[in-house]
Amino acid sequence: MILKLSGESLAESGKRGISGAEMATISNQIKLAHESGCQIAIVNGGGNILRGAQFSGANATVGEATAHYMGMLATVINSLALQDALEDIGLPTRVMSALPVDKVAEKFIRRRAIRHLEKGRVVILSGGIGCPFVTTDTAAAQRALEIDADVILKATRVDGVYSDDPEINPHAVLYDHLSYQEVISKKLRVMDATAIALCSEHRKPILVFNFKRDGNIVRAVRGETVGTWIGD
Ligand code: UDP
Repeated sequence: MILKLSGESLAESGKRGISGAEMATISNQIKLAHESGCQIAIVNGGGNILRGAQFSGANATVGEATAHYMGMLATVINSLALQDALEDIGLPTRVMSALPVDKVAEKFIRRRAIRHLEKGRVVILSGGIGCPFVTTDTAAAQRALEIDADVILKATRVDGVYSDDPEINPHAVLYDHLSYQEVISKKLRVMDATAIALCSEHRKPILVFNFKRDGNIVRAVRGETVGTWIGD
């Protein structure tokens, strides 16, 4: 399976940067999931450091394409941090990157990634897809197709996909199941549009769930009902 972690999942709630405590918590959850025998490839975001889009607009001092490369580098920073946190609790890992950073990460080669997974290593995929103007959601969809993952687990801070922002609207309804078409037509903010299009075209299911609830990653891996299932 692909576990999509946003950069913010490595930071304290509402803050930027990397929190040792948050990383330890998520690493322990990943360990439980790994112990259940599942192959895990993590696609890391970088939004806790920066997103390329924040530099768009007339007054931007950094060109938008440059900023997206900076965002990709942010995902590498997060991946290195997560690698050490996972290895600290005994999980074997490999960091691979779509953006060449040879000193710290292997380049992403599909068959090599699959081999690492077969050997029981947690593979941390950084650098997105290595091209600007997309996000790591697209990378998660792309890699899920490449390695033929059963599902994309999209970790969020809320319990799944709601009809409205649950932090603003107390009457927002939590969906337990959605079709790809419903996600598109209701304009639900699940993953970016390219990622949804890829998943829809190739029938790759997405489970959106709350990683802050203890044990949820392992529950999701076991196929228990957590969060919102997006698929056929
Ligand atoms: N990015 C990119 N190409 C990719 C993946 C990411 O240009 O293939 C850049 C993009 O600017 C993005 C940033 O890296 O905003 C960080 O990734 P993302 O926003 O997906 O992080 P998350 O929101 O998951 O923390």
